[in-house]
Amino acid sequence: MIIVQKYGGSSVADTDRIKRVAERIAAAKQEGHDVVVVVSAMGKTTDQLTRQALDIAPIPSARELDMLLTAGERISMALLAMAISEQGLSVRSFTGSQAGIITDAEHGKARIIDITPGRITDAIGDGHIVIVAGFQGVSRDSKDVTTLGRGGSDTTAVALAAALEADLCEIFTDVDGVYTADPRIVPDARRLTQVTHEEMLELAASGAKVLQVRSVEYARNHGVRIHVRSSFTYQEGTWVEEDHVMEQAIISGVAHERGEGKLVVRRVPDKPGVAANIFTSLADANINIDMIVQNVSDDGTTDISFTLPIDDGPRAVQLLEGLRDAVGMEEVILDEQVGKLSLVGAGMKTHPGVAARMFSALSDAGVNIEMISTSTIRASVVVREPDLETAVRAVHEEFRLAEVAP
Ligand code: ADP
Ligand code: ASP
Ligand code: MG
Repeated sequence: MIIVQKYGGSSVADTDRIKRVAERIAAAKQEGHDVVVVVSAMGKTTDQLTRQALDIAPIPSARELDMLLTAGERISMALLAMAISEQGLSVRSFTGSQAGIITDAEHGKARIIDITPGRITDAIGDGHIVIVAGFQGVSRDSKDVTTLGRGGSDTTAVALAAALEADLCEIFTDVDGVYTADPRIVPDARRLTQVTHEEMLELAASGAKVLQVRSVEYARNHGVRIHVRSSFTYQEGTWVEEDHVMEQAIISGVAHERGEGKLVVRRVPDKPGVAANIFTSLADANINIDMIVQNVSDDGTTDISFTLPIDDGPRAVQLLEGLRDAVGMEEVILDEQVGKLSLVGAGMKTHPGVAARMFSALSDAGVNIEMISTSTIRASVVVREPDLETAVRAVHEEFRLAEVAP
């Protein structure tokens, strides 16, 4: 049976850890499995390479940035292959392009559109352990190397598991599963035994970066079972799957996000076409908007606020300043000191009052809410960034998420 294992950056942060991971992979092979391993860049390599690029160019060429960043995974892949070889096992490493990961040409956030894993299946057939560099692919159109966005090695792993019809996709990381909140912020957060793709998708989309959103989307669409576990222990982790759901809790967890900013467009005319004008130009610039709030009208004008990825903030301000005359706004204010908290749970569909309870918990903790948005299984609020951790703990406590659901 084929298993796909993915090791994240902290699991291969130095050569000692790479040797440890090699032993673990060797053990899986010796148990009789065909093993395909996806590996991330060592430790903070991707951050360091990004910083170097920004030192040289404030807006580096997207093509060259992808060339640079993919080198990180190439280093860990080759070192890991050497370490496995030292275990006396045969191994072959492949870049994303060699592994047949075909993407569109969107540098920095490319989507996988096809997988042609011929070289991988051949190598497996020859008895090799296969190592694949995560987070990267190649565009069929431009023939250029692309990256899949931060955290993209998770998606490489799930996509390969689907293409190879693997029995299992194991995501090894520095926590031993998916928790009811980020365990770094909420010390009594509880590990979930099982979470459905739908809930995991909302948690990941709301900032729980233990799995990249796209990897969960891909797993849901292709029916891949994911086991999130620690590379430091042998403990059972969290299963992301639909089968035999044991824990049907109302709330699965609290997620938080620091990577978004809030943009306020002050005093725009309150008339048809204004919102369309603003959001069409942002969409045309490929800027993803998250929450949107429009205030009640006052003397024929209103304020429109929305959240967006912090990195896109300055570009969005520039764009809106350009619309000032056409739209007739008073000013555009970018606020980077915000944080978003989301409560996620499939049971919210059938249990009214969950959001109200969350607002009361925040009020008791003295946290002011600046924006609200809800979906059928999520309630999100924007708060001041310095209040974010207090807010996460208060909501976690209010819903008693540290305790196993009755
Ligand atoms: P890797 O390098 O292995 O891909 P990441 O740093 O991308 O690891 O993801 C693991 C981190 O995700 C953990 O260290 C943890 O701080 C964070 N995290 C955020 N929310 C959660 C959650 N609900 N459960 C577990 N980990 C979480
Ligand atoms: N190395 C890439 C990153 O840091 C991809 C990954 O780790 O999944 O985002
Ligand atoms: Mg990750």
